[in-house]
Amino acid sequence: MVQSQWPYWLPLRADLRNISPYGAPQIEGVVALNTNENPFSLPQEVIDEMATRLREVIAGLNRYPDRDALKLRTKLAEYISATTGVELDSENIWAANGSNEILQTIFLACGGPDHLAIGFTPSYSVHPLIAQITKTPWFAGTRDQDFAIDVTSAKKLIREKSPHLVFIATPNNPSGSSTPIAALKELAEAAGSVGALLIVDEAYAEFSDEPSAVTLLADFPHVVIVRTMSKAFAFAGARTGYFVAKPAMVAAALVTRLPYHLSSLTQAAAQTALDFTPAMQSEIRVLVSERARVESALKEVGFTSVPSAANFLLFSGFKGEPSAVWQAFLDRGILIRDIGLRGYLRVTIGTPAENDQFIAALREIAE
Ligand SMILES: *Cc1c(COP(=O)(O)O)cnc(C)c1O
Repeated sequence: MVQSQWPYWLPLRADLRNISPYGAPQIEGVVALNTNENPFSLPQEVIDEMATRLREVIAGLNRYPDRDALKLRTKLAEYISATTGVELDSENIWAANGSNEILQTIFLACGGPDHLAIGFTPSYSVHPLIAQITKTPWFAGTRDQDFAIDVTSAKKLIREKSPHLVFIATPNNPSGSSTPIAALKELAEAAGSVGALLIVDEAYAEFSDEPSAVTLLADFPHVVIVRTMSKAFAFAGARTGYFVAKPAMVAAALVTRLPYHLSSLTQAAAQTALDFTPAMQSEIRVLVSERARVESALKEVGFTSVPSAANFLLFSGFKGEPSAVWQAFLDRGILIRDIGLRGYLRVTIGTPAENDQFIAALREIAE
């Protein structure tokens, strides 16, 4: 909600006076299928080991954390190397409090009033939001009706606008659709030809079969891949995100990061999670098969959903305004997301039991 009037004594920036804070509703006692969280809590063996290691860290909380989070970045590099086949080390990784902070770091380093950023909407609304907060001009390119990026017109747009930053989320949020690696390669070429960074936000990569843009790094040094542990690692509360890039980009992040930004607790918790990667990610297969089940349920009631490579579905075909259908779900104890896109609503894939509840409500609402 926009604050309608700011007090006279508050010297708030004029350009921030009409911005509403980012926020999806957080409501207690409902089935929360609105923020693409992983619905499974951590495995018991990980909880136990993390508790043990955090006890040791707590004893040392009188000291500042490792400013450069070297151990964590090393483990993240190992994880990305193992999953993409690209050789990387800590010099290629920067970590922060969630990938939203990573995005902010990129804007602080490479954005600003005379550096244009572009994206292809509908996409992740936090990209233009951080552009605004960092006074970076933003141009919204478009997507096809099926939410794909038309490569020819996207390349043309990049050449015309000559931006410094090009943002692509794949799998895209809110559509779930992915941009094929061949298309990303062409867009990386176009971005490189005008001296722009190509920032590929891969928050949902682990749910997708498409190769990661990390595989482009060897040929395109100006590609930056943004990742998070919030979704596939079921670690949203711990706030750990990172980017994968050439060492010079990491050096740029070091300039704009706040000193000691990543607490010792976060670093130790994330390292433990990475030591248990298979256990932490054991539910991905369940979520992918549940996605197919929810997709068929939507189809059965006559709705349509966008083919998704992520842990959520964007659907349409319902009667009435999205806000009314959103409310109808909430009346049945299910919180989904109205992303402000005409004719569409988004639902996160939950546990099988939560999806059963969603499907039951869906059948009532579609009648
Ligand atoms: C969820 C999401 C993020 C943010 O994740 P955090 O790491 O929790 O800050 C980033 N990008 C996209 C596209 C997302 O959907």
